[in-house]
Amino acid sequence: MQTTGDQFLVKKINKAIVLDAIVRHCPLSRAQLSDMCGLNKGTVSTLVGELIEEKLVYEIGFGRSSGGRKPVMLMFNKSAGYAIGIDLEVRHMLAVMTDLDGRVIAERQVELERHDPASVLELLTGAARSLIGEAPPSAYGVIGAGVGVAGIVDDKGTVLFAPNLEWEQVELERLLRESLAVPVTIDNEANAGALGELQYGAGKEASGIVYLSVGAGIGAGIVTGGSLMKGAGGFSGELGHTTIETNGKRCRCGNKGCWEQYASESAALELARPLGVARFGELIELAKQDAPEAIRLFHEVGESLGIGIANVINAFNPELVLIGNRMVLAEPWIRTAIERTVSARALPFHRRQAQIRFASLGERSAVMGAAFSAVTAFLSKDRVTW
Ligand SMILES: [Zn+2]
Repeated sequence: MQTTGDQFLVKKINKAIVLDAIVRHCPLSRAQLSDMCGLNKGTVSTLVGELIEEKLVYEIGFGRSSGGRKPVMLMFNKSAGYAIGIDLEVRHMLAVMTDLDGRVIAERQVELERHDPASVLELLTGAARSLIGEAPPSAYGVIGAGVGVAGIVDDKGTVLFAPNLEWEQVELERLLRESLAVPVTIDNEANAGALGELQYGAGKEASGIVYLSVGAGIGAGIVTGGSLMKGAGGFSGELGHTTIETNGKRCRCGNKGCWEQYASESAALELARPLGVARFGELIELAKQDAPEAIRLFHEVGESLGIGIANVINAFNPELVLIGNRMVLAEPWIRTAIERTVSARALPFHRRQAQIRFASLGERSAVMGAAFSAVTAFLSKDRVTW
């Protein structure tokens, strides 16, 4: 029998559905898959056979029987390949290698002294290559790299504008793909963080999240109905550049009084200058030692964060606001100021519904989201976008 185009398409869609169910719910038997996916047993068996041949699925012992023969259970082969995730921040980058289920196998942290694209690309490539060199033997090897960048990224993986890195028009996807020779996905770092928390962290149970990446600047990944809200050009979430002071401090974006000038890691470091502190880690250490100047400073930053979070809550009515990136380290000293400010400023109906929490993956939200994007791109190869 000749296979028509339509049949081929239907088969691809069905295979994608079966693989997705195994990834999410394994261990599963073929009968359970058939019920879950609404496909007949013969179709499920054929598709599972192909996935086993492709080493994406394997069989384990017998599951519980509901009478009759005990069924063979199917597992997703999370060691079929490995993904690289990179979080490119302003002062440092974090790189991890994970299996296909987000388990971290190896990690690198690199300080960034210079920001010109060539120097950063060299460090990025170096970190990724050294991780790739550590990949255990597997069916597919390293299946791709995902990068989260603190900047505005288009759908071709070009960084259009990253004010804190001072980058414009850097074709990061192309450059990295050419030097690493693996598929590369590039996303805004806050979107990557939101994905990381949604998949592996504090956002697992929620469907309406605003993830705030509070690092050198402030970016937001906005999740509604379980997926990222990207906006017309994919550029949504630049909440750090919303104005909270009419004639406030100048920002690198060209505006005055941007939220991130008052509530980011950079804002905290600026306030810390009279204390002779140049690194965020030192400031955290001072607060841990109960130094009153450091505690007061974090209180001020917490208030400024609270002002913007009240705006976020009024605008998006989220069930969960997650504070992520480096500012998670300051949780003990900013939490009360944030909560007090939000209670005083947000609309009461909105405030009652919104939980404010700190990212459970800590500094790893974005790097895990970036690795997850690489895994999704790999597993989607057999899928159809519709
Ligand atoms: Zn700005």
